[in-house]
Amino acid sequence: MKTLFQKIVDGEIPSKIVYRDDICAAINDINPQAPVHVLLFPIKPITRISEASADDAKTLAHLMLTAPKIAAQCGLKDGFRIVINNGLLAGETVPHLHVHILGGRQLHWPPC
Ligand code: AMP
Repeated sequence: MKTLFQKIVDGEIPSKIVYRDDICAAINDINPQAPVHVLLFPIKPITRISEASADDAKTLAHLMLTAPKIAAQCGLKDGFRIVINNGLLAGETVPHLHVHILGGRQLHWPPC
């Protein structure tokens, strides 16, 4: 079974791909929580961060290094937030690891 994000990458579900390389891709969130709300995910799925293994280290590093590039590409020069929801209580709804990149407004802490 393909994940939602695999279907998007394969063009089976429409979405604008805002970034893509050999390892990861990024799309605009369909329900944005900020003026910029991008989802960055590995093309080869990892279910969630708590299920990542040492074999995934290169992919995870790549996601962390790519997120700031996407933030810069989106014009988030004054700051941005990256979020990974892991599991039910965190509000995870798509079981394909993804990094939320949020910005374009004042973000508050703690998140609620
Ligand atoms: P999470 O709740 O952390 O698993 O994040 C999943 C995100 O995917 C949510 O912010 C949803 O709004 C977003 N989402 C769900 N379906 C789509 C879609 N078809 N295109 C873009 N984003 C989506």
